[in-house]
Amino acid sequence: MKISLVGLGPGVHQFHFEEKPAMWGLENHPNLRANILLDVQLEKAPTHLYLRNHIQTLGRFECDRCLSEFEMMLEEVGRVMFSDDLDLVQSSDEEIRTFDPDAREVDITDDVRDLLLLSIPAKLLCRKDCKGLCAGCGVNLNEESCRCASQAVDPRWQALQQLLDNSK
Ligand SMILES: [Zn+2]
Ligand SMILES: [Zn+2]
Repeated sequence: MKISLVGLGPGVHQFHFEEKPAMWGLENHPNLRANILLDVQLEKAPTHLYLRNHIQTLGRFECDRCLSEFEMMLEEVGRVMFSDDLDLVQSSDEEIRTFDPDAREVDITDDVRDLLLLSIPAKLLCRKDCKGLCAGCGVNLNEESCRCASQAVDPRWQALQQLLDNSK
């Protein structure tokens, strides 16, 4: 997606978009199905262009522990900076791109896609204290208890289970 800079005066401009994941090249992403809300705050000056991209969307996930499906609001903010100060562009710790004062548009597709991917947490739990599935009988322990718990657990099995839990 490109934002046109034609006729945009110096100062801060706001844009709001609501698009399907396909707009950001994410039509096949398993977790991103809902519309994606994007707020862009764009600051234009003769020497630089700053963008603040704010995305929000409802993701669909499978819990790492109990395998049930759940939805979670995803939100992320990212900045994109363009400057005509080449020293700044080269020396800054942050990524600053070279500003072209004659540019007629700015393409935000890759930046927004990166932001969406970044908003998905590495650890996906339906809730913080998800009890997961019983290793013995496979029932979802959030929904029901099972008889396995009351039976004596083989200590070797318990050690293995602990390893599995720690690796999550
Ligand atoms: Zn869960
Ligand atoms: Zn069980």
